[in-house]
Amino acid sequence: MAAYRPEPDRDSRQWWERIGRHEFAVQECDTCGLARFPARAFCPGCRTEAWHWREVEAEGVVESWIVNHQPFMPGLQVPYLVVMVRLAAVPGCLVYGNWHGERPPEYGERVRACYTRVDEDLTLVGWSPGRPDEDVATPGIRMPIRSTANPPAT
Ligand SMILES: [Zn+2]
Repeated sequence: MAAYRPEPDRDSRQWWERIGRHEFAVQECDTCGLARFPARAFCPGCRTEAWHWREVEAEGVVESWIVNHQPFMPGLQVPYLVVMVRLAAVPGCLVYGNWHGERPPEYGERVRACYTRVDEDLTLVGWSPGRPDEDVATPGIRMPIRSTANPPAT
């Protein structure tokens, strides 16, 4: 696991620390209120630097995805699927993560974050099919399969 480790930097360190506690948050500008992700030093809307964390529900809808077949580095298991999710609470924010569903995602389907603890210093966020009443904090949760990816021939 973790052939590639994200490197928290000045702007993202607190975000990674929050993810380690399963707290999903985006930055929100103190001046204009624009929410942003990933973490950065100033607001892309009004260019001011004052901001705070805003905790949001870790759920959204599938906007797009890719399947990577290239072993870009030694130890990387391929293929794997990376999904792009539009946050329900902040539609202007797109976040990315590994797909943890048992079938490919569907455009527009509702998903929930799941957290994978790699070690003491690193927890990764992934996405799996889910509804708001399902437990988000349990990785590897088994979901009922609703597949329309390969409908039966008629
Ligand atoms: Zn702003």
